[in-house]
Amino acid sequence: MPRIAGGLLLLAALAAPAQPHFNGAKALQYAGQFVAIGPRWPTSTGHAKAEEFLRNQFKHDQLEEDTFTADTPIGAVPMRNFIVRFPGKKDGVIVLATHYETNYWLRKINFVGANDGGSTVGLLMAIGDQLRADLARGKTLDGYSVWLVFDDGEESIESKWTDSDSLYGTRHLAAKWARDGTLGRIKAFILADMIGDKDLDILRESRSADWLVTLMTQAANKFGYGHYFFQTEGQVEDDHLPFVRRDVPSIDVIDLDYGPNNSYHHTAQDTMDKISSRSLTIDGDVFLETIRLIDLR
Ligand SMILES: [Zn+2]
Repeated sequence: MPRIAGGLLLLAALAAPAQPHFNGAKALQYAGQFVAIGPRWPTSTGHAKAEEFLRNQFKHDQLEEDTFTADTPIGAVPMRNFIVRFPGKKDGVIVLATHYETNYWLRKINFVGANDGGSTVGLLMAIGDQLRADLARGKTLDGYSVWLVFDDGEESIESKWTDSDSLYGTRHLAAKWARDGTLGRIKAFILADMIGDKDLDILRESRSADWLVTLMTQAANKFGYGHYFFQTEGQVEDDHLPFVRRDVPSIDVIDLDYGPNNSYHHTAQDTMDKISSRSLTIDGDVFLETIRLIDLR
């Protein structure tokens, strides 16, 4: 049998179905439900509903609610990060993060952040579905633990972005994880922001770790998605920075080109019709493959 075993294996490989794609339609559905809550700026009733939505989605998982008080230009504001933990066999953690709130300074317009916050909440929820199913099969993931982080207060309270008025949730979380030693366990911090855009073009963010950019490029190429990734380079102030500053390998996966002349960004035009299940499928495929490649390192 040894002589023909190779032939059989080859036939089996040829007959094997293509790797199933990530369920971007489900991610889009979650995003739609979340965005239907409406504006969710800090202190609003929409924000409380968004919190309840996340709490309900992960009620059967290892969910931690990380509450804190942010010192902001409008005074003390209660904020809340959500952390969902899926344990793995390898010692170490891969964090996937997104912010979930909308901008306080846009509270007078109907800004629902379908792409900005909404799309990546949907993406991480659908990734959570897949991790939950993997856990159910094997009790722990084969690779590193994966933690989903839904952070609060990424956006500035006032319209002018400053170092002290922005990134409230991740600044709080990075400091807390520095104090309790968690930071040393994080192998990669992967941030998703505004990547539901139908016209997907993901920036090569300058302060992101080179090796993570390389692995994600490799992951994208595996699916023929290379042209959606890292064709242009730029520096972005985003939720990865509190982790970059503490030497955690991090990447900001962001599409900063949203609508003609970026006209949908931070406007009432950031609505569900501008994002697509196709883009979320691309994101999900590449995120999950990137996790697999990090596990193999
Ligand atoms: Zn924004």
